[in-house]
Amino acid sequence: AVPDRRVVLRGVTRRYGTRTALDGVDLDLGPGVTGLLGRNGAGKTTLMRCLATDLDAGSGEVCLLGLDPTRAPERTDIRRRLGYLPQNPDFYPHFTAFALLDYMAVLKELGGRRARHDEVRRVLRQVGLYDRRHSRVRRLSGGMRQRLALASALMGDPDLLLLDEPTVGLDPEQRIRFRNLVSRLAVDSTVVLSTHQIEDVAALCGHIVCLDRGRVVFDGAPGALLDRARGHVWEGPGD
Ligand code: ATP
Repeated sequence: AVPDRRVVLRGVTRRYGTRTALDGVDLDLGPGVTGLLGRNGAGKTTLMRCLATDLDAGSGEVCLLGLDPTRAPERTDIRRRLGYLPQNPDFYPHFTAFALLDYMAVLKELGGRRARHDEVRRVLRQVGLYDRRHSRVRRLSGGMRQRLALASALMGDPDLLLLDEPTVGLDPEQRIRFRNLVSRLAVDSTVVLSTHQIEDVAALCGHIVCLDRGRVVFDGAPGALLDRARGHVWEGPGD
């Protein structure tokens, strides 16, 4: 049977003290790439974290991959089928690239030593870092670290991939490679991509969600967003 790859949110609200970071968010996302847009502070990172880690904090309902994250056994399943690339990935600088990914593989319970090592090699090749596997993290450039973070998110071949501003720090050629890789992955997984890069959106996203002050202000196809933007121009007061 085809696994359920939907992400459904109903009335999700998250607060930091008195500040409301997410305000009654309803979403229904399926396979392919959904672009998550919005100015700084709109709530994109909070939404990513809410899907990736704080699954049951705050109010509202979340259903990921057909599973209920408030139930411990289902949450374990979700964690295994989910890959998360956080905004400013934090690494152990003294680890080698290989050791770091192997450690992540242990945390993800990806099996015994042999299975883990095979998986680490696979993802290192996927992001073009296999040759640097013995380099220590602190010796890698910003772009390489970003690719290492992507490799970590790709371990276990996730059904749900959450990428928070993944192309920051990549040079133009790496950006193109990144887009090619994500478009291949998105054929059979659900990808949520937070970005300020219009090229990423144009190349990858079949669905767009815009947040503003924690609310969903647009949810639909990229063409409809463009039409709306054009509408604002033509319907404006003019000159
Ligand atoms: P950016 O594009 O800058 O990453 P964002 O859309 O990801 O922005 P969030 O980081 O989710 O936005 O922030 C949403 C709101 O919550 C902002 O008003 C922010 O100041 C606030 N916020 C985020 N994290 C915290 C925190 N740990 N403590 C207090 N307030 C926070």
